[in-house]
Amino acid sequence: MNKSDVIVIGGGIAGLMAANVAAKHGKKVTVITYGSGSFPLFSGAFDFFGRDAEGNFISSPAKGIENLPAAHPYKKIGMNYVTESIDFFKELTSKYNLPYVGTIEKQIPVVTAAGTLKYSCLVPQSMDATNLNKANKIFVVAIKGLKDFYAEMIAENLKKFLRKEITAVEIDLNFLGGRDINSYDAAQFMSDDALKDFIGQLKNFGSGNDVAFIIPPILGIEGNAIYNAVKSSVGAEIFETTCLPPSPVGMRVQKVLVNALQDSGVKIFENTKVLRALKENDKVTGVVVQTAVREKFYRAEKIILATGGFFGGGIVMRQFEKPQETVFDLPVYFVKGAENWSNENLFGASPQGFSMTGILIDENLQPLDVKGFENVRVVGNNIGGADFIFERSLGGIALASAYKVAVSL
Ligand SMILES: Cc1cc2nc3c(=O)[nH]c(=O)nc-3n(C[C@H](O)[C@H](O)[C@H](O)COP(=O)(O)OP(=O)(O)OC[C@H]3O[C@@H](n4cnc5c(N)ncnc54)[C@H](O)[C@@H]3O)c2cc1C
Repeated sequence: MNKSDVIVIGGGIAGLMAANVAAKHGKKVTVITYGSGSFPLFSGAFDFFGRDAEGNFISSPAKGIENLPAAHPYKKIGMNYVTESIDFFKELTSKYNLPYVGTIEKQIPVVTAAGTLKYSCLVPQSMDATNLNKANKIFVVAIKGLKDFYAEMIAENLKKFLRKEITAVEIDLNFLGGRDINSYDAAQFMSDDALKDFIGQLKNFGSGNDVAFIIPPILGIEGNAIYNAVKSSVGAEIFETTCLPPSPVGMRVQKVLVNALQDSGVKIFENTKVLRALKENDKVTGVVVQTAVREKFYRAEKIILATGGFFGGGIVMRQFEKPQETVFDLPVYFVKGAENWSNENLFGASPQGFSMTGILIDENLQPLDVKGFENVRVVGNNIGGADFIFERSLGGIALASAYKVAVSL
């Protein structure tokens, strides 16, 4: 019988963060997950808070969070844990050579694949576009054969924000293999030879403090080594953009979190689905999982439910207004009325009722209104009561909730 201090169900951002924090605090941790979470969809830039109730941009996420009502998940988590979660994440990623920058006090611009600026408060160093405006010769670099990266469109749109001359260029790295490639393919193709070629071709456009290159996120699928090599060899500023999935930057984050867990001796069971609670005397003592041949039991003192809400499959809704939490059948909060469910423009400045769906929590991140689940904690997208999409808090609530739960076990 497998017995741990804590079982984490779900290997997305929240689950892997919680597992790392718990392991760092000396807990024996087991992670059980199927799927790879939303890493391949994740831009890499963590949104903590970006909009007030009127839909106005918030330049200080800290101030925005301070003004939230008491029932909001961030208020249950508490600002000190939010700040500590950022520090923990920065320290961990920098140890694994994927440095992140930022604080909860201010937003950092990142160039999107559409040529707009997205503001987040915790971003990979390779995407931090704070200094972009300092350059006077800015090139947007398309790679021949790479789909979904339109350098000319990005240059045109960026001009509206930066009011400078921005030039779209294309380089050929011979990445064509009979089909169009995506950013993840290109990031994988960045061998020593391709890198040398890339650096040489960028240098042809210029170098120096005055020069900046905006490029798709193709600088490898692990760590920052390729970014550092390109930046120092070219001798210019380099900014990776966001991209359409699969996102190499999201996958870099996943690699760091998984490598760190393996270094801490944490067991990770992949492609393994948790079916239900193992209960004794009305108390959750573990979980039942489905393996290829039979059901297996894993016991633990505490269980962290990080199954990702709607996006991760932790909550499903087979019938309208009847959302279900898939492992423990916990009560799920949702906004009533089809007219309040969604708005046409997913990222527009109007609320998206469906994204409030989730499990309501108390200050310990224990599920509310249910008995027998006192040792279960809820993190990440499973948490209900916040319009993550409208207020732009998806990644932030995931990191901060995971951190608080894991340090408080
Ligand atoms: C398209 C998209 C774009 C995004 N972009 C951003 C962004 O730019 N910035 C930002 O801050 N955030 C972004 N996010 C949010 C972010 O990627 C995560 O969704 C968020 O951080 C929450 O992660 P999570 O760990 O709660 O869930 P997930 O990442 O969804 O992970 C949940 C995991 O649990 C597993 N699971 C579910 N049920 C079970 C079960 N019964 N047994 C075992 N495992 C199970 C799932 O397979 C999955 O691996 C984006 C999300 C999406 C969907």
